[in-house]
Amino acid sequence: MIKYGELTTKKENINLFISTLKKNITKKLENEKINLTYDKSRMFIQCEQNKFDEVKIKLKEVFGIHEFLICYKLETLDLERISQEIIKLTEKREFNTFKVETKRSNKTIEKTSLEISSFIGSQLLKNIKEKTVDVHHPELIIYVELRSKESYVYFEKEKGLGGYPVGVAGKGILMLSGGIDSPVSGYLAMKRGVKIEAVYFESPPHTSVEAKNKVIELTKILSKYNNEIKLHVINFTEIQESIYKNIPHNYLITIMRRMMYRICEILVKNNNAKIIINGESIGQVASQTLSSMKAINEVVKLPVIRPVACFDKLEIIEVAKKINTYETSILPFEDCCTIFVPEHPVIHPETKQCEDYETRIPYKDLIYNCIKNHEIIKIENKIKKDFEDLL
Ligand code: ATP
Ligand code: MG
Repeated sequence: MIKYGELTTKKENINLFISTLKKNITKKLENEKINLTYDKSRMFIQCEQNKFDEVKIKLKEVFGIHEFLICYKLETLDLERISQEIIKLTEKREFNTFKVETKRSNKTIEKTSLEISSFIGSQLLKNIKEKTVDVHHPELIIYVELRSKESYVYFEKEKGLGGYPVGVAGKGILMLSGGIDSPVSGYLAMKRGVKIEAVYFESPPHTSVEAKNKVIELTKILSKYNNEIKLHVINFTEIQESIYKNIPHNYLITIMRRMMYRICEILVKNNNAKIIINGESIGQVASQTLSSMKAINEVVKLPVIRPVACFDKLEIIEVAKKINTYETSILPFEDCCTIFVPEHPVIHPETKQCEDYETRIPYKDLIYNCIKNHEIIKIENKIKKDFEDLL
């Protein structure tokens, strides 16, 4: 049983939220035999008991689920029968004290929740030996939920990832380098319901295949939350070399990033997205001072979302470890920014200066070529089970 939590507070969007959540869960569990039903307050996934653990792990990778419960469905509202079933279900559990907590969404039932709890509690006391009720610190809480025709019994609550179902907020293009910050930014954006496509700028032969593979691996890890991610790989070599040859080196990074932003804006438009997302963090390096952000941001009209803008590096690392991208991010392969880093990058770049320098390179043509020839890789978080089936 899935509880929607925060989702149900947004009355005007509830249908979109629930249908997107349903779509995402169905895709996530496509290899499992399940039956999914839902209404405005709960979603139910029925599966075989020996699949509980697998399904549980997968549900913990779906945004929009705040809490879910592994519960037993009883096709009855009869309290004596419910009590009998509970006695069977608790047989293998070790506990001395318990309490019953009832929820009754079916208001036609005459007894109040409290009366139902105490009825079931007394039945249990009669039938199971040496157990006592402790309403304050019970070793086992027996949750009972009575709905229109059926009831549910559960003992534990599992915490979900929270956030909104991926897709409800629209789509964004994530600038994904091989570093620590950008995968974390992608994760945080998805948490707010943003579906992502990623873009990686490579500069072969200055950057290696290993660096690209690292980004593919990071995309794969992120696709766990997004079902599938389209990774756009842009060959940035010509632009980068042209900047290197023609522009004073203290402005290399600023101009390079202005070019990246321009390309991202085109990708956003071509792929029906709404925003750019990246891993910039205020003050982390010269290109991320507020003056740099301003000079770089000025070339696009779209919102640029920087989920880790106000995080300390240690806070970013904490999330990276939690979502399993950290170990891949710290692999030592250079990406295109690190190779062309000047000794003294400008800390307070001027827009006018950027514009003057940019007249020295035919950047519109170069950008056009980048987009025309770019590679698209569709990345899924394929589950090993596919291989197991073949064996
Ligand atoms: P990260 O910030 O991901 O740890 P980084 O610190 O090496 O990597 P920066 O130079 O700080 O990257 O760049 C800031 C942001 O710009 C990155 O977080 C990423 O969103 C974007 N970016 C940088 N280089 C690339 C690239 N080669 N391809 C795609 N996006 C990039
Ligand atoms: Mg960074």
